[in-house]
Amino acid sequence: MIRGELDLPGGGATPDEAWAELLAGNQRLRDGTPDYPRRSQDAREAVVSGQRPIAAVLGCSDSRVPLEIVFDQGYGDIFAVRAVGPTLSISSIGSVEYAVVELEVPLVVVLTHHLCGALATARHLATSGMDEYADLPGMLPEVIAGIRRSTSLADPADAPTQHAQDVVTGLTERSAPVREAVAAGRLRVVGAVYSIQTGEVIAVT
Ligand SMILES: [Zn+2]
Repeated sequence: MIRGELDLPGGGATPDEAWAELLAGNQRLRDGTPDYPRRSQDAREAVVSGQRPIAAVLGCSDSRVPLEIVFDQGYGDIFAVRAVGPTLSISSIGSVEYAVVELEVPLVVVLTHHLCGALATARHLATSGMDEYADLPGMLPEVIAGIRRSTSLADPADAPTQHAQDVVTGLTERSAPVREAVAAGRLRVVGAVYSIQTGEVIAVT
């Protein structure tokens, strides 16, 4: 089924409308009056034939930052890409590109958050004067090094903002499909920070 035949959330929204919709959902969350939209069995069945998400969100994997809850959305609404930080990789960039090219999302949100363990670790290692990160297990040195570059000069309280801005810049630089969609006016890329304490999402780009 082609995208235009699907009667699902997100279809036809402009980039600004999509961002307003996510912010409205976040406001409902903060007000304590979430709608919990599109979470019924009917809503699940409505997306069997395809998806038209209103946005792709590249967010941290942190269990305290569940994207559908943060933005009060449901089935079919958010194309979620999550990686610690978040960080840019072939996988995370390619996932965003899939949403932009194949699903034609009008909005990409890069969402960092306060109290992020990955950002704290990156900052600690960057300011310790040592290369302890090389002793981290598995692929973590590579991941933390990527975050470390973007937060090493930031005040701890500013690190989520700095990192969101850096990821937006990096994503735009590394992805031709994202750049082209932005240039064509059919995509907006927003960097934002989520507060675990208050539940608020604030745009920082
Ligand atoms: Zn995090």
